[in-house]
Amino acid sequence: MTKEVITRFAPSPTGHLHLGGARTALFAWLFSKSNKGKCLLRIEDTDKERSKEEYTNSILDSFSWMGIEFDEKPVYQSKNISLHLKAIEKLIEEEHAYYCNCSQDRLDELRKNQQKAGEKPKYDGKCRNLNLKKSDFSVVRFKNPKEGSVSFNDLVRGKITISNNELDDLIILRSDGSPTYNLSVVVDDINMGITHVIRGDDHINNTPRQINICKALGGEEVIFGHVPMILGDDGKRMSKRHGAISVVDYKSMGILSGALLNYLVRLGWSLGDKEVFNLDELINQFSEGKINSAPSSFSMEKLTWFNKEHLDLLEEDQLLKLLSDNISYLSTDSYSKRVIGLVRDRCNTLLDFQSETYYFFKDYKSIDNELTEKFFKPENIEILSYLKGELVESSFSSKDISEAIEKTMDQFSIGMGKVGQPFRLAVTGQMGSPSIDKTAELLGKEKVLERLEKVTSS
Ligand code: GLU
Repeated sequence: MTKEVITRFAPSPTGHLHLGGARTALFAWLFSKSNKGKCLLRIEDTDKERSKEEYTNSILDSFSWMGIEFDEKPVYQSKNISLHLKAIEKLIEEEHAYYCNCSQDRLDELRKNQQKAGEKPKYDGKCRNLNLKKSDFSVVRFKNPKEGSVSFNDLVRGKITISNNELDDLIILRSDGSPTYNLSVVVDDINMGITHVIRGDDHINNTPRQINICKALGGEEVIFGHVPMILGDDGKRMSKRHGAISVVDYKSMGILSGALLNYLVRLGWSLGDKEVFNLDELINQFSEGKINSAPSSFSMEKLTWFNKEHLDLLEEDQLLKLLSDNISYLSTDSYSKRVIGLVRDRCNTLLDFQSETYYFFKDYKSIDNELTEKFFKPENIEILSYLKGELVESSFSSKDISEAIEKTMDQFSIGMGKVGQPFRLAVTGQMGSPSIDKTAELLGKEKVLERLEKVTSS
């Protein structure tokens, strides 16, 4: 029987879940699901200064918003410190690690000289064979093998080989008694039974070191996959400079979780030309696709396109429920349903629904001064007053409203724009709306006449 696939996502809770992290997590999650395995979450909260509970909660919320469930309760790395310390003791006992007393001054000097000589800075192994005892200021270093090389078959990048003489004896226990990242990660991965580590390629330099530590601890071989970065639209590594970088930012911009998830996965994974996938399709088809080894660029325009595609796939009732949960004045009644049906084509995000439906439910606040000056000149007011007179008599179907507009055009020998635009502005308070006859019909005779009256009498 082949071993169950167990992957993990291991964020440090020093910020909200950013897009790159979310995408890495999705790949790890989809990889395990498509192999009928498990995906675990480990919160790497050992940096007391920078880790915040608020960020842990935000990371958990972002996943639950995206519909990503991990298979077990999160593991908190800070609770495993005694296991990390035990592993360090074992490494010392078995001569895979040693105490090092080198002072910071010596290490600084060493680095300076190596840099001067054009060499890559690394520890020279002074204490490696001195068999030193623990002291107040000693650290513990891992005895990296001196000979041979480390090879691994990366799921994304293929075979990678690093010679051991490029790796120095890294510190695994600081002088303050705290274990370091490379040690803790390996111990936790072993204890959690992780079979596949899928993570960002910013960690690729750590992998050969971690493989050596894992071997020394007697852990089973792990398969790695390093996922490339997400770049901003300027081709540079995505950072705060590019604006929104966290999953929560996109949620507040009215992006659907399914659309964000779909786009993040497609950004670096492909299956033919197919673009739009729901979560089940991704799970079922993930292993047939290919993860790109080159970095991909994030585009807000493309995300908006995905969002529109996902919005279009929602059934009327699903959309209504989603919107009424998010926009206070909307409900699931038939008026809301008709309004949403009318504006739906015009909306790319959930926020668009807010601006597109507002005037159907509330009186708009005021009209922009520039627009008032441009569209409500005395000649426009005369036209609108005439139109109002026509509408007062009408039974207010969209057909009646169209006829009233046409009659007004004939009366003043003017085109549609001269009637339609001021009419739309008076009725909706804005320049864009669905066709004005349908908009006015749905808004109702009373409201439309009231708003026309307000504009024509002021
Ligand atoms: N906690 C690390 C990070 O947030 C990830 C460690 C790993 O995936 O091995 O970058």
